[in-house]
Amino acid sequence: MNAADLLWLLLPLAAASGWLAARFEQKRHARHSLDLPSAYFKGLNFLLNEQPDKAIEIFIRVLEVNSDTVETHLALGNLFRRRGEVERAIRIHQNLIARPTLDKDQRSQALMELGQDYLKAGLFDRAENLFLELAEIRAHSEQALKLLLRIYQQEKEWEKAISVVRKLARVSGKNRSDMVAHFYCELAELDYARKNYSAAREHLRQALAADDKCVRASILLGDIDAREGRYRQAIESWRRIEEQDIHYLGEVAGRIADGFRHLDDEQGLYEYFQLSLKRHGGVSLALAFADVISSREGVDAAEKFIVEWLRRAPNVHGLNKLLELNLVKARDSARTDLLLLKGIIEELRGQHLGYACAQCGFRGKSLHWLCPGCNRWNTIKPVQENE
Ligand SMILES: [Zn+2]
Repeated sequence: MNAADLLWLLLPLAAASGWLAARFEQKRHARHSLDLPSAYFKGLNFLLNEQPDKAIEIFIRVLEVNSDTVETHLALGNLFRRRGEVERAIRIHQNLIARPTLDKDQRSQALMELGQDYLKAGLFDRAENLFLELAEIRAHSEQALKLLLRIYQQEKEWEKAISVVRKLARVSGKNRSDMVAHFYCELAELDYARKNYSAAREHLRQALAADDKCVRASILLGDIDAREGRYRQAIESWRRIEEQDIHYLGEVAGRIADGFRHLDDEQGLYEYFQLSLKRHGGVSLALAFADVISSREGVDAAEKFIVEWLRRAPNVHGLNKLLELNLVKARDSARTDLLLLKGIIEELRGQHLGYACAQCGFRGKSLHWLCPGCNRWNTIKPVQENE
């Protein structure tokens, strides 16, 4: 912070402390007004000599907290926190709270600030305690709950996060059951990693009960069924994505195909892809269907399908597939040419792959349910299905 900034901020403090008033009457009360101005000038001197630390110490010490200066103390603390000078912010807010003259409102406002200082300093336990207290005060409830939610998400305390989102929905009137579902999915993933499949199933059931559009729960549920050899149920779970959000069906196209193969149901596989492609279209489905045709009827039939598809909807993914199919048959010099071409197409295709956040534009190679860019749930979708 430069000296000029701080000077402006401190002017109201000086006024409120009565120094300015005293100065106007200096002639009459010369002897009584010396105390504060001298401290003020001492502080100013430190400021001008670029020793803000010492300046602040002095200002805080001499400026009494009263109803006129509380706002300024709060503003000063807030400013320090925003600039990353958290320790100073904490000192100012703690100093404020220690004053017995604060009224109830001012005290909770100062506690809210202090909680945010703690949060920024990574002192989550202390911040949590303050926000829990503030969540009970109506005027601060919504903000405190939002901040609690941030802590619990960061600390991966999903059960606490669930209860906070539900309280927040009651306070703010905004329904975030999609978030509740994601938190249950997080719990299910932990169960899954520990191979506790029945617990994972129960958490996924709760996820879908909270939000029946939760694609993530359907994917995981299918994965558990497949792992336990129940391929019919697995396919059923994955297929539910068609009704939930069609953009994600491509995520499980390969898994659905594998499921049918495990069941030795080539006919079912063929019919499923033929039908859903007709119904929904989509790049991943078309590519998966090309593989199905290729293994069932041979490379030529797959090639024919891709060419027809490309005529209707020219795209770089189909072109790449076409080259792949031709490489299977090509020999010698034709093969060399095709490989060269494929290298170029793959580079082009790279720009049309991966995942993107609809909110902040974040791009990544894997699917994140929580955007690392903007920290929102459910905003990232596969790029190739959105073009
Ligand atoms: Zn984002």
